[in-house]
Amino acid sequence: MANNIQAIRGMHDVLPEQTPLWQYAERSLREVLGAYGYSEIRLPIVEKTELFKRSIGEVTDIVEKEMYTFDDRNGDSLTLRPEGTAGCLRACLEHGLLHNQVHRLWYYGPMYRHERPQKGRYRQFFQLGVETYGMAGPDIDAELILLMDRLWKKLGIRDKVRLQLNSLGTIAERSVYRESLVSYFEGHLEQLDEDSLRRLKTNPLRILDTKNPAMQEVVASAPELMAYLGEDSLAHFSAIMATLDDLGVDYEVNLRLVRGLDYYSKTVFEWVTDELGSQGTVCAGGRYDGLIEQLGGKPNHAVGFAMGMERLLALMETQDTVQLASPVDVYMIRVGVVAEQQGLRDAETIRDEIPGLKLQVNCGGGSFKSQFKKADKSGAEFVIILGEDEVSRGEVSVKSLRNNQLEQQNMSLPQAIEFLVAQVKLA
Ligand code: ATP
Ligand code: MG
Repeated sequence: MANNIQAIRGMHDVLPEQTPLWQYAERSLREVLGAYGYSEIRLPIVEKTELFKRSIGEVTDIVEKEMYTFDDRNGDSLTLRPEGTAGCLRACLEHGLLHNQVHRLWYYGPMYRHERPQKGRYRQFFQLGVETYGMAGPDIDAELILLMDRLWKKLGIRDKVRLQLNSLGTIAERSVYRESLVSYFEGHLEQLDEDSLRRLKTNPLRILDTKNPAMQEVVASAPELMAYLGEDSLAHFSAIMATLDDLGVDYEVNLRLVRGLDYYSKTVFEWVTDELGSQGTVCAGGRYDGLIEQLGGKPNHAVGFAMGMERLLALMETQDTVQLASPVDVYMIRVGVVAEQQGLRDAETIRDEIPGLKLQVNCGGGSFKSQFKKADKSGAEFVIILGEDEVSRGEVSVKSLRNNQLEQQNMSLPQAIEFLVAQVKLA
């Protein structure tokens, strides 16, 4: 056994007992996205390394230390996508989707970051990404928030997440602020940790994002970006808040909420929870008008967010109101060669007649007793039994596994189909 190959650290299997919850969450988010008229886009998992360097930026955690980068056989540097925003925009630029058009898009799939694995932080994790293009807002910014508000409610976890909101202004506003921030921190060098000293030169706004408790004080007294915002940025921010007030969506303004990426503009938001320890951000997003130009497109507008599925599922697991359907509704027991043949024919007829019914046929033989055990374990509500007697009478036998009041009954196949249609609640 010592030689068994194991999965890569931080990359997890989703086992059959866990997939129903995943599928339920995936179904729910498709429904909510559909309700707002969003379209799915499917993107490659591998992109040219250059794409991420140019979009995310060289001096970010992701590009500095988290990417899975390798050389292709012909020497090109490729990277497993650490996020989807860059690839989505690359695809839309490449296919000319951004000329005088608006788009509301979403994608779903695995992302890869070489981080230290812990609860809520993995090296392969799934994201739902939502990106919109061509809209100057602020109504579209608010729409993205409303969409997530609806999803939390649908999944029954609205009371476990809080919305935090901030505005980062324009790149020009931020560069003035950046100077005053740098000079403030330069006056407090002895209070900065190693990471922050490095960021002071490369990406000083990221210092505000520090998780180091020893630095909270110096960060709390730092100048605030809000004071540097111009009229247009402030009006945009107020309009979002007014919409959320009008529609009854609670939020907190968090002036310390920053993104270390230069292409962000105006709106940033996060949905956070207190239930998952330090991995408390479930969903993060904002406006990134600057990125389209950065990737070679004409000036345009973009707002989006990404939600981490593992963190979402961890939140869903903290509540037990979700009733997940069993993967099997009806289990068929067949004993004897003749019954095995007849059973397969009957099973196909049942599948023809009752679309959506989940019928599992016992394979690999066994006594009535051992097949009943498997039927019970399958989670099925009913068994259909075929032995020599049933086949010789041209009947099947139907029995409930969950309700003792219902007696086992012999009936013809058409009667059995009618019975199952009436009794089984299809998912
Ligand atoms: P964090 O501050 O937790 O590192 P981040 O700012 O790197 O998050 P984003 O790039 O904004 O995260 O990604 C959006 C969402 O994707 C996060 O809010 C989180 O839910 C999820 N996520 C990010 N990195 C991981 C990871 N390594 N494992 C699991 N989920 C992740
Ligand atoms: Mg991170």
